[in-house]
Amino acid sequence: MKFKPANKIQDLQYFGEFGGVNPSISDSTTYTFLSAKTMFDTFEGHGEGCYLYSRHTSPSNLYLGEALAAMEGTETANVSATGMGAITPTILHFCGAGDHIVSSRTIYGGTYAFLKNFAPRFNVETSFVDITKLDAVEKAITPKTKILYCESVSNPLLEVADLAELSKIAKKHDIKLIVDNTFSPLSISPAELGADVVIHSLTKFVNGSSDTMGGVVCGTQELIDSLRDVNDGAAMLLGPALDSLRAASILKNMRTLHIRMKQHSKNALYLAQKFEELGLKTVYPGLPSHPSHDLFKSMMNKEYGFGGMLTIDVGSLEKANELMEMMQHENLGYLAVSLGFYKTLFSAPGTSTSSEIPEEEQKEMGLSDGLIRFSIGLDNDIERTFRLMRRCMNRIDILNKENKYQELV
Ligand SMILES: *Cc1c(COP(=O)(O)O)cnc(C)c1O
Repeated sequence: MKFKPANKIQDLQYFGEFGGVNPSISDSTTYTFLSAKTMFDTFEGHGEGCYLYSRHTSPSNLYLGEALAAMEGTETANVSATGMGAITPTILHFCGAGDHIVSSRTIYGGTYAFLKNFAPRFNVETSFVDITKLDAVEKAITPKTKILYCESVSNPLLEVADLAELSKIAKKHDIKLIVDNTFSPLSISPAELGADVVIHSLTKFVNGSSDTMGGVVCGTQELIDSLRDVNDGAAMLLGPALDSLRAASILKNMRTLHIRMKQHSKNALYLAQKFEELGLKTVYPGLPSHPSHDLFKSMMNKEYGFGGMLTIDVGSLEKANELMEMMQHENLGYLAVSLGFYKTLFSAPGTSTSSEIPEEEQKEMGLSDGLIRFSIGLDNDIERTFRLMRRCMNRIDILNKENKYQELV
């Protein structure tokens, strides 16, 4: 039977200290010991079942990590305070001075800025490639390359990475394939397709209520142990520890992730089809017009759909801003960055989340001024949402004659 990530979360069983149905939250930063010897062993990472200090680990963080590892099908996981707090230590774990990274050029703006502007301070250089061109990816690998970095579905252009083929390339050159799966939780299981490390910003779909930051690195026990090593572990020494109260709240939200993802995907597919019918340039992996539609289909866990993210291009930044302000005024969503909320969120990536990428490079990768990125919400009546959105589009005159006419009848 095919791997079902949501079932794996469902099958976990935790009880609270007093038999509660939720695990108890550890509301302490430090832990007492009956024997001094156990304290030393715990510090060195050998104190079985003991906790020392909450930057190292805490019961709540371990529970959340276990649930995420179950979802991604990896041995274990380490949670962190933010997505960037998962990404940067992982990159620095694998790369030291003189090393090289091959990365997709369409990635989260913060990750791009880190690789492009920050990592070179440590003499770690990155070659940015079009991740959909496998020969270009392989060509960029040098004897100094340590990691191949990409997002399963990229931000904001929704390019899809062929994870199985990328994994073959990585194995052939003995480098690690690190995949940020923030845009496609449950829909795509990168580790099943050969990724060595899977990362999420929990701030987005996984938590889903836009109230809490969080991140996770899912991988082998060996990787997670060394990230947490007190002597030289990047996740330990850079200090991006997640607070226990927040870990507990993310764990509770994660239990409904499968239901939410199905609704995000259903609504996004409906709107993408309708937007395309209106003649708008629409990008959504669930549309046959998407260049990687078949690839996504071949990788996906079908029941969760093609995800909640889509983009349209309305021609200019002015029109994009006008439309977004109007949609917010009509309460169809919020003009805000981030994703995975119950409300639809929209923003123009060129001037917000991808503004770290120089204009010229934005052009080259197809990130145009009029692009609007949507994170489609959990609307119960998406047909109504569409009708109201179409009315906004009509008012600001971005639909062609034929569709305008349709609106008037
Ligand atoms: C938001 C995001 C991140 C960064 O996560 P934070 O929780 O904001 O630190 C990384 N990758 C992707 C794809 C994201 O959308």
